[in-house]
Amino acid sequence: MKRDRVPGAGRELTFARDPRDRFHDECGLFAVYGRGNVTDLIYYGLYALQHRGQEGSGIVVHDGAKTRVHRGIGLVSDIFGDDARRQLTGYMGIGHNRYATTGHATKLRNVQPFLVDYKGGKLAIAHNGNLTNVREVRAAMEESGSIFQTTSDSEVLLHLIARSHAPDLPERFIEAAVQVEGAMSCLVMDERRIIGYRDPNGFRPLSLGRLDGMYVLASETCGFDILGAEFVRDVEPGEMVILTDAGIESRHIAHKVKRSSCMFEHVYFARPDSFVFGEAVNRVRRDLGRRLALRHPAQADVVIAIPDSSNSAAQGFAEELGLPYELGLIRNHYVGRTFIRPGQESRVSAVTVKFNPVRSLLEGRRVVAVDDSIVRGTTSRKLVELIFRAGATEVHFRVASPPVTHPCHYGIDTPSREELIASDHDLEATRAFIGATSLGYLDLEDLAAAVKEPDGYCTACWTGRYPTRVPMASGSTPFDRE
Ligand code: SF4
Repeated sequence: MKRDRVPGAGRELTFARDPRDRFHDECGLFAVYGRGNVTDLIYYGLYALQHRGQEGSGIVVHDGAKTRVHRGIGLVSDIFGDDARRQLTGYMGIGHNRYATTGHATKLRNVQPFLVDYKGGKLAIAHNGNLTNVREVRAAMEESGSIFQTTSDSEVLLHLIARSHAPDLPERFIEAAVQVEGAMSCLVMDERRIIGYRDPNGFRPLSLGRLDGMYVLASETCGFDILGAEFVRDVEPGEMVILTDAGIESRHIAHKVKRSSCMFEHVYFARPDSFVFGEAVNRVRRDLGRRLALRHPAQADVVIAIPDSSNSAAQGFAEELGLPYELGLIRNHYVGRTFIRPGQESRVSAVTVKFNPVRSLLEGRRVVAVDDSIVRGTTSRKLVELIFRAGATEVHFRVASPPVTHPCHYGIDTPSREELIASDHDLEATRAFIGATSLGYLDLEDLAAAVKEPDGYCTACWTGRYPTRVPMASGSTPFDRE
């Protein structure tokens, strides 16, 4: 189907992605147990994991005598200037990047790692994921006198650890971990050791690396690459690794359940240069693009990506059909926290990330635009309009994952079910809404075929089949929200 040129075509239009129209990951973790001062290593590790959270960051380090913490709102490079890093010295430490729900300003008290004094000394915690039974656990603790400072479910874990009567931190942690359900990759540190843990389902990634005899933990392996650290292996679901001056100890602390790692890490969250869940993200994404091309080919002149998360899938799509792949949309990477969101009357959308079309590549051409997902559809609609305004004669929108129909309960910020366009629009209604010439989604079976062990993945946001008990039939999860 050919689409009429929209009124005003030819004028420059800058468009920025609506942050509510994305799935957002919540948090990046990084830890080092080593020698000398490890602060800079953690700083660079968090810098490499910035894509997992841009709202705030923190580092806690211990030097054998003192535990020091620095946390702030904003990007890693802004929070940890030279002065801040000079004051943080220690041979072991943990760090965290936070993503917070859009529309709510992050409060410093919710930025992790949390650091508390308890009867066992200093205790720090950083957490990626969302606990699905936290309401019940927290209500029971409040009933028995606990007072909470934040809205984070990580604080619930801290309380559970502190209330334990077990003699040492690993045993205390085990007692706490078996009481909670849901997604939890976390780091816990006292004055002697760092614990890294992944929940039994293995929802969120956590990898172990080595650097000059030191052990490193990171949400993604791109955090190792920046330091020249060697990737050793993933922390296994249900495994607790304990890093001390004696080396590393591993304990499987949870009963075995079917692995259900988040498939969306491959589709969108993780960096393409990372290995997560035993797979190279770039290879998986490229394969998704190839399969999408076979499933929904298009008569077109050029393939473009919605940058940056769709670049690999768009390349795979173009390769499969023998079409040229071009950088038809340019993303502005310099949209910082101080970016002023425009008002309703502005021609520029409220945004965190901006795009501009390359008219010379799009004008008069039939364009395939590949995106990783459609959430609410409002972004896709604006992107299609943007590409038409740049002179494209047709816009074939292709999506490298199936229609999103259900919210996530495992630490990903999603709109409520009613806001997900695919929950109540069929393919043609969605195509009409976004204004594309044609629309094609990847099938669930194609998605599964792109990874080595498809049975080990959660696909609940496409199927509604949640691998654990979840708190509500629809809507966002209640905690870790400000
Ligand atoms: S529901 Fe979707 S986003 Fe959430 S863990 Fe499962 S696959 Fe990932």
